[in-house]
Amino acid sequence: MINVTKTFLPPLEKYIEYLDEIWETKHITNHGKFSVQLENDLKEYLGVKHLFLVNNGTIALQIALKTLQIKGKVITTPFSYVATTSSLVWEGFEPVFTDIDKNSFCLDPDKIEAQITPKVKAILATHVYGNPCDVEAIERLAGKHNLRVVYDAAHAFGVTYKGESILSHGDISTISFHATKLFHTAEGGAIITNDDDLAHKISYMRNFGHNGPEHFWGIGINGKSSELHAAMGLCILPEVNNLVQRRKDLSALYDQLLLMHGLQKQVIREGTTYNYAYYPVLFPCESALLSALASLNANQIFPRRYFFPSLNFLNYVEYHKMPISEDIASRVLCLPLYHDLTEQEIGQISGLITNSIQ
Ligand SMILES: *Cc1c(COP(=O)(O)O)cnc(C)c1O
Repeated sequence: MINVTKTFLPPLEKYIEYLDEIWETKHITNHGKFSVQLENDLKEYLGVKHLFLVNNGTIALQIALKTLQIKGKVITTPFSYVATTSSLVWEGFEPVFTDIDKNSFCLDPDKIEAQITPKVKAILATHVYGNPCDVEAIERLAGKHNLRVVYDAAHAFGVTYKGESILSHGDISTISFHATKLFHTAEGGAIITNDDDLAHKISYMRNFGHNGPEHFWGIGINGKSSELHAAMGLCILPEVNNLVQRRKDLSALYDQLLLMHGLQKQVIREGTTYNYAYYPVLFPCESALLSALASLNANQIFPRRYFFPSLNFLNYVEYHKMPISEDIASRVLCLPLYHDLTEQEIGQISGLITNSIQ
C-alpha cells in the first residue's frame, strides 16, 4: 500500500538516548531542556528571531490570532486546510473569504482591497503547499489599511524567499510539526515573530498566562509541548536537508513523467527556495482526477484530495462563491511523496495516471 505520505522516523536507538536522559531527570514537560534546545536549534536553522514551540499547528494559529487583541473580520483564503478557517471562527472572528490566484494557489492580493471594510482588522493567508504568498503586495495593503497579517506557514518549513526565511514575514507566522509534515515532532507546531512585544505576549499566552507560580500576566491557554515531542524534533532536524533533497529528486522524476500529458503544477513564486513538501498535480477537469484516483486506489495507492472541498463550503461560514478556489480544489491531487518512495513506485503511479487520462 502506498499512501500520500509516510512519517519519517529516526533510528529508535537515537530516540532512546533522549528518553534515557528524560527518565533520569524525570523532567518530561513544562519547557524542559530539550524543548529549549529545539527552540534554539530551530531559530538557528530557520533564521528567525522569536520561535515558540506549541503542541500543534492549530493552537499556534489560535494563540497567534488571540495575541493580536483585535475583534472583527479577517480576510482569509478558502484554499487551505480546514484549521485555517476553523481557528478564526473558534477565536470569534468572521472570515471574509477572498479568492486565490490560479497559478500560485495563494490569496490573490488584487482581490483583497475590494473586501476591506472598517470591520476588517487582519489578513490570514496560507503559503499553500509551502509556496510563498505575494508577501510584498499583502504587506503593502496591510500597511495602507492598518491591518495585521498572520501567515499560516504550516507547509513552509525551511522555505526561503529572496534569501530570507518566509517565516519572518507578517506580524506572526505559524507552523505545524504534525507527523504528516516535512519536519515533525509527532504532534507540534510553533509561533514565529520578529516583534518583541508580540513575542512577550506569546510566551505568557502559551503557558496559561503564568508569570511565576502565583501571578498571572493575563489570559492564557495550555499550548506547551513536551520533552518527548522535543526529543523527536531533535532527532529529525539533522536529517531535514537530506529529506528535502530526496523529495526534490522524486519531484523532478514526477515532473518528467507527468507534465507533458496535459497535467499542470502550481507555479512557485520567483525568488523561492522550495521545500518540496508536497507534489500537487492539477488535472484538466474533475472527472479526469476521479478516474485517475479510481485507478490508483484499485492498485492500493492512496493520494489525497488536498485541499478539498474549498473552505467556503464549510457549514459554519457564510457561503460566497470563490470560482478559482472551487475550481482548483476540484482538480488538484497530492501525489505520494516521502523519503523512501522509490523511483519504480513513481513510475508505476505516473503510468497509472497517464493511462487513465488518455
Ligand atoms: C497541518 C495544517 C494545520 C494544522 O496543524 P496541526 O499541527 O495538524 O494542528 C494548519 N494549517 C495548514 C495549512 C495545515 O496544513
